[in-house]
Amino acid sequence: MSEFDLIRRYFTRATPGALLGVGDDAALLQASEGNVLAVSTDMLVCGTHFLSDADPFLLGHKALAVNLSDLAAMGAAPRWATLAIALPAADEMWLAQFSAGFFALADQHGVELVGGDTTRGPLNLCVSIFGEVPAQQALRRSGAQIGDDIWVSGCLGGAALALAHLQGRIALSEAELAACLPALHQPQPRVALGLVLRGIASSAIDISDGLLADLGHILEASQAGAEIEFAALPVSAVLQACQTPPLIKQLAIRLGHQETMTKSLVMIRGGREGFGVEFFHQLILSGGDDYELCFTAPAAQHAELSNISARLDLPLTRIGKIVAGRGCIVRDASGNPLDIETGGYDHFR
Ligand code: ADP
Ligand code: MG
Repeated sequence: MSEFDLIRRYFTRATPGALLGVGDDAALLQASEGNVLAVSTDMLVCGTHFLSDADPFLLGHKALAVNLSDLAAMGAAPRWATLAIALPAADEMWLAQFSAGFFALADQHGVELVGGDTTRGPLNLCVSIFGEVPAQQALRRSGAQIGDDIWVSGCLGGAALALAHLQGRIALSEAELAACLPALHQPQPRVALGLVLRGIASSAIDISDGLLADLGHILEASQAGAEIEFAALPVSAVLQACQTPPLIKQLAIRLGHQETMTKSLVMIRGGREGFGVEFFHQLILSGGDDYELCFTAPAAQHAELSNISARLDLPLTRIGKIVAGRGCIVRDASGNPLDIETGGYDHFR
C-alpha cells in the first residue's frame, strides 16, 4: 500500500466544517464569528507513553483524548485536528483499529481530521487540535484569585494505579485492574465541562501530570498559593478499595506472598514502614493521566457548580482554596500538613 493509499483509506473523511481538508498542501480553516482559535499539540511516543503492543483502537482514542482534554481546559469547543504519525510498517489491521478509535472519539466531539503527515519510523503519534473560544472567555491558568475555591472533576488516582500495576510496581487482581484500566487507556476528556465553565471558572488546567504538579502551574501563573484538604479529594473507587488495609499489605496477603510485599516496598519507597499510606497519597496527588479538570472559581459559584455537576452527571468536588503566598499545602483530616513530594512526571528529570 502506498503512503497516499494509506492516507486515503484510513485518514480521509469528509470535512464539511473546513474550507479545505486532507489532500492539499495545507488545510484552510475559519473560526466562526467572534471566536479565536485555541491550538494545542500532544505527542504520544512508543516506549514513553505506551508499549508497542498497546491496543491500537485505544491508542487512537487516547491520542485524540489527551488533545481534547487541553481544549477542555481552555474552555474551547473542538473543531479540527491534524495527525502526524510515524509507523514501523503499513499494518492494515493496526491502521484500521487505530483510525476507528480515533474517529469514534472525533465523531463524539464533532472533530474533523483536516491534515497530517505520515512517515515510516518508530511508532509515534502526534495530534494537533484546533478549537474555538471567544477570546475573553478562554480559561487561562493565570486567572485564579485569592479566596477562590479549587475544584476537580471526576476522580483521581485510577490511571496511576493501573500504570503502577503495568510497571510491575504493584500487583492488582484481575478485577481491580479491569476497574482502573479504562482510566489509563480511555480517558474521557471533559469537553462539555470546559464549555460550561466559561464565565464561571477563574482558571483551569487538565490533570495530565498529577494534581499537585498541574495545580502548581495555575499557582505559578496566578501568583498565588493553595491549601488542599486531602480528605476532600475524590479518590477513584478501586484505589479507595485497595487502600484499606494498606494497598501492598492487602495485596501481598491476598497473594500469600511475603516476597511481593518486600519487593514492592523496596521498589517504591526504599522499604520504609507505613508506605501504604504514602503510596496512596502519591497516586492521588502526583499520579498523572487522569485527564480530569482542575479549576478555580469564586465561592459565589458554588451552587451553580452543583447544578452543573448534576446536569453533566459528572462529580465536581471542592478540594481547597486559593490563598496568598506561593506553593501548595495539603492538610490531613486533623489539619496537619502532609509531607509530600509535589513533583509530577517530568520527561527530563
Ligand atoms: P506534503 O508532502 O505537502 O507534506 P503529504 O504528502 O505529507 O503532503 O500529505 C498529503 C495530504 O495528506 C496533506 O493534505 C496532509 O495534510 C494529509 N495527511 C498526511 N498524513 C495524514 C494523516 N496521518 N492524517 C490525516 N491527513 C494526513
Ligand atoms: Mg507531509
